Amino acid sequence: MPILNTKLPRYNSAGEAARREQMRNADLDRIEKNKKFPTFFVKQYGFRPYFSGHDVINIKGPLCPRYLTKERQCLAELSGEIISTKAHCEVCDGNFDMPHNFEDFRRLAHKAYQGYLNSQTQLITLDIPFEAIKAESEDETRKIKIVWSQKDGRNQAIIYLIRKDKTGAKSHIFADLDREEIRYDSSDIPPGEILAKIKTEFKTKNINIEFK
Ligand SMILES: [Zn+2]
Repeated sequence: MPILNTKLPRYNSAGEAARREQMRNADLDRIEKNKKFPTFFVKQYGFRPYFSGHDVINIKGPLCPRYLTKERQCLAELSGEIISTKAHCEVCDGNFDMPHNFEDFRRLAHKAYQGYLNSQTQLITLDIPFEAIKAESEDETRKIKIVWSQKDGRNQAIIYLIRKDKTGAKSHIFADLDREEIRYDSSDIPPGEILAKIKTEFKTKNINIEFK
C-alpha cells in the first residue's frame, strides 16, 4: 500500500523548512517502498516488482545492467522488441544482447520473485494436530510426556523426561518418524543423566543408543 503523506507544513512562511520536510518524507516513502519491493537481479539484469491494480504483483524490467560509476548501476528500463534479445538503454545509450528475450526474461524474473516470496513464508502443515499430548505418566520423582509435533513438515514425536525435584531439569528426545532419526536437545540435561539406553524401532531401521 502506498503511504500517503497527509501532514501539511505548519507555516507557509517557513518555506525552506517545509520543503525540506516534504523531501524528507518523500525520501522515507521511497526507502519504505524499496524495502517492500527491492530491485533484484536475474543474470545480472535488474527487475523490480510493483503492484498493478488489485494486489497483482507485476515485474518491471529488465533494467540496464551498465555501471555508471563503480557503485552505481544505471538501472533504467530497457527498451526493445518483446520477442527480441536485443535491448537498448535510452539513458546511457547502451546496447545489450540479453540471455532471453523480453517476454521470457520477465517471466523468468517473475518466477524468481515468487521463489523469493515463498522462501520468506513460514511453512505450516496441518496433517496431524500440532503439539497434541499423546501420553503422559509420572511417579514420585519423574514424569514422562510424549507429544506429536511437526518440524519443517516432518512428523516427529517428542519425549520429555522431567525430574520432579526443584531443579525441574528436563531432557527431550526427538524421534523423527520421516527421517528415522533420534536427536536430543543439547540445551537440556543430557539424556544419559536420566537414561541408560534408548532403543528405537522405526519402520525400516532400529536405533540403539547406550549411555555410559
Ligand atoms: Zn543504461
